Amino acid sequence: MTTTTQLAIDGGPSAVTDPLPGTLHGVLDIGEPEIEAVTAVLRRKTIFRFLNDRQTSESCRLEDRYREWTGRRHALAVGGGGTCALICGLVGMGIGTGDEVIIPGYTYIATAAACLSVGAIPILAEIDQSLTLDPASVEKAITPHTRAIIPVHMRGCPADMNAINDIAARHDLKVLEDVAQANGGTYHGTPLGAVGHAGAFSLQHYKMITAGEGGVLITDDEDIFKRAAIKHDSAMQFWADDQTWPSFAGENYRMCELRAALGLAQFDRLPGILERTRANWHMLTERTAHLEKLSPRTCHDPSGDCGITWAVFAADSPSARRFSEALAAEGVPNATIFNKRIPDRHIYNAWDYVMEKRTSDPTGWPWTQARRPIEYHPQMLPQTLNTLGRCIAIGLNQHWREGHIQQVAEAIIKVHDGLAARDEL
Ligand SMILES: *Cc1c(COP(=O)(O)O)cnc(C)c1O
Repeated sequence: MTTTTQLAIDGGPSAVTDPLPGTLHGVLDIGEPEIEAVTAVLRRKTIFRFLNDRQTSESCRLEDRYREWTGRRHALAVGGGGTCALICGLVGMGIGTGDEVIIPGYTYIATAAACLSVGAIPILAEIDQSLTLDPASVEKAITPHTRAIIPVHMRGCPADMNAINDIAARHDLKVLEDVAQANGGTYHGTPLGAVGHAGAFSLQHYKMITAGEGGVLITDDEDIFKRAAIKHDSAMQFWADDQTWPSFAGENYRMCELRAALGLAQFDRLPGILERTRANWHMLTERTAHLEKLSPRTCHDPSGDCGITWAVFAADSPSARRFSEALAAEGVPNATIFNKRIPDRHIYNAWDYVMEKRTSDPTGWPWTQARRPIEYHPQMLPQTLNTLGRCIAIGLNQHWREGHIQQVAEAIIKVHDGLAARDEL
């Protein structure tokens, strides 16, 4: 074996010589427009959104941008993140104590937390080879108590929405899209979030674009919107022009103008970020498509994928581990479910308070209000564990240049060929 093909795990030189830029997105691009926008709000001193009129309110303008982008009639900005947008969406849909909501076993734990916050019981379903909710598993999870489905567009990739919407229509269920990881993605031309009855976006630090913290709920349904808006601020009817609002206790999930200004400036960056992440994803995918021992993650609409994750499957989990370690040695940070330093709260078996049905309420609510016995255990979703166990993922970034992609592609090919030659893949 020549030194150039000797794997780095065997003492060879690593394939990547240029350090790769980080994997965050919008937050890395914060610059003058964001600083200007936030400073302007500070100078104005009206940080509370409802003291500004519709034209000048940053929060209103952020909502307008989401309405324009998604084509939905209503948008509600929330200050507390995608979790709060999901909570408002569920409340908007009239979902409450004991109602069952189907979610994938691979999503950030916040999806389950949002259900529990409104008293609903999260029912876990399998993921498919796109790492998103498997419609076949959803169908099996439906009971007379099911009220909603939350498909999650994981790691930038759209879920199988036609199949999920079809199931929902047949069983009279609501569909709340969790778009926290796929802001700006589309599904056969429709912006994600606008494919179901409502969509919840996150503007948290790690997402495509950020407001520091924050989120947006969108919907076409006036009832969902008004109930969601009351949940986000039970004084809503006082700020609004018309008086036809429901009235019940809410929280304070209002967006503040500083965050909204930051979010607005970031929103303008979204097309540029997506253009570059998608170009990188296509380049890397093309250059590694011929590798026989790795099968690519499927996608329900590749043209709508945000391009932030390159993911493949090895034949089994030992192969995936070997591949991942060898690739890391070549200088390519990558992840399998095995090399996480801390339990990965994106995988259901690490959702400790769900697995153990723990709650803040002394009575054990809402688990005590389930309408049938509900049990969780770490092995309950074998297809999800098998799929994730074989998966190797690389987070892509808008700052990678063609040279980075080329080096990463070379590293992947080198490790593939090296491990395949000795039957370790
Ligand atoms: C980040 C995230 C959330 C929660 O968003 P926050 O803004 O952190 O509240 C929900 N679902 C998914 C899939 C996420 O990645």
